[in-house]
Amino acid sequence: METIHFKTVDPVSQELLRGASRRGVELNWERYEKQQPQDGFLRLGLSCPYGCMQGPCRIDPYGRGAQRGICGLDRDAMAAAFLLRLTLQGLWEGLDLSGSPRRGIEIAWPAPLEKAAAAAQSTIGGAPLAAADIGESAALLSRPSADPETLVRQAIRLGLLAIGSAKRGKSAATLGYRVGYGLLAKEAVTIAVAGRIPETLAKALLKAAAGRKNPKVRLVSLGDWLPAGKSFLPIVCTSGEAETVVASGRIDLLLAGPGCDPGLATLAASLNIPVLKGEQASAEEELFAQARRAFDRRDPGSFAPDAALVGTGSAALGSAEVQAGLKSASSSKIALLGGSDTLFQSLGHLPVELAKALIGEGHAIASWGDAALWMAKQEIPATTLAPQDGPLAAVASLAATGSLTSLTGICFTGLNACRDLTLALGLAALGLKVAVAVPLPLWGSAAVRTALGTILAATGGSLTHYDHPAQGEELLAWFVRA
Ligand code: SF4
Repeated sequence: METIHFKTVDPVSQELLRGASRRGVELNWERYEKQQPQDGFLRLGLSCPYGCMQGPCRIDPYGRGAQRGICGLDRDAMAAAFLLRLTLQGLWEGLDLSGSPRRGIEIAWPAPLEKAAAAAQSTIGGAPLAAADIGESAALLSRPSADPETLVRQAIRLGLLAIGSAKRGKSAATLGYRVGYGLLAKEAVTIAVAGRIPETLAKALLKAAAGRKNPKVRLVSLGDWLPAGKSFLPIVCTSGEAETVVASGRIDLLLAGPGCDPGLATLAASLNIPVLKGEQASAEEELFAQARRAFDRRDPGSFAPDAALVGTGSAALGSAEVQAGLKSASSSKIALLGGSDTLFQSLGHLPVELAKALIGEGHAIASWGDAALWMAKQEIPATTLAPQDGPLAAVASLAATGSLTSLTGICFTGLNACRDLTLALGLAALGLKVAVAVPLPLWGSAAVRTALGTILAATGGSLTHYDHPAQGEELLAWFVRA
């Protein structure tokens, strides 16, 4: 375990990982290591993404094996179709299809971005963006027919559509948050929530927990930003650390909402921690009783963190609050730096070190997602944005105040779902300078990378990505160069 710093920069997480290893408890890190090397065809975009039952076909990146699929598809069309497949999924993830399924999607550009959006659409070409783009994209992916450039262009259109159809933040809203292991310091029956649970449920559980004494009951989130009234549920850790926390011996019940990783529930069950699905939480008494029984079984010598290990902040969700947050930044240079944890890099290293370096270069930082939690844990001054669509609100806010020129770049430190990739593409299509720190599956086709770069350059934007997990120095250079 002498390489523990390759897994996380947090000394408490390091200690917990050592403890789990001593007890033979396998976590996400062990699964990650067993998965190496991950599928190289997929990683390069050379595994066929078409909805075709004759496959799967793959193309040998080194030119020694198959160079075409059974139908004759070549590497460029395969990689381009893969990009379209991912962006279509990303668009889909961001749509609010609650209510009438036939309502379709509403495109409503934030006023300050209307001009840029119109210019981008005109440069990229085709019919005005519409819900029909979804069906057209699905049709393009049913069987090979389009050339790579058409597929790339369609992927960029979907990126724009994802921004135009993104839900807008509340008109006036900030939500406070607390993050860190110190939230587990005092003795209390601890219910951990992972995945998305409705705000009404989070509030009801908080209220019910508040009335319980001897022992007290507390509710914490394992890396998810879950609104619960005037603040988010207290967040113990970032998403990459969730299993580490479950293995700490300090959790008495896992409440798994939609989107909770299967590994988390499996781990909890293996440690004899009760696991309930989100909808089962409506039986409050049973939930608290199960958590209490697990609390009584706890090893008294289990992990006891320092109460001081808590960072605090306030996330700007409404456009006025985002504007105020960015305005209060004294610097004339603003860097948007955020995104999810990735096991490609030591957890926390990139957002923390890059933010420090950028501040040293005279930048103000605005952040979102796990990256924002790392900054709060390390007390790095930064404006916190909405967990996922924060960069859109920041860009709209800077455009509204005529200060987009102060934006030196938007960097995604990690990607979680496809939604992040689709947003990155859409932001670049709006003429912005965007980077992604984890490799994209485009390295199997130079032609696709060129087509993407050329189309984005015509809009005035760029999407920088690397064939390896990007290092802080590379991204610092990317931010500071003109
Ligand atoms: S579309 Fe072509 S390359 Fe893809 S799986 Fe089918 S036959 Fe193979």
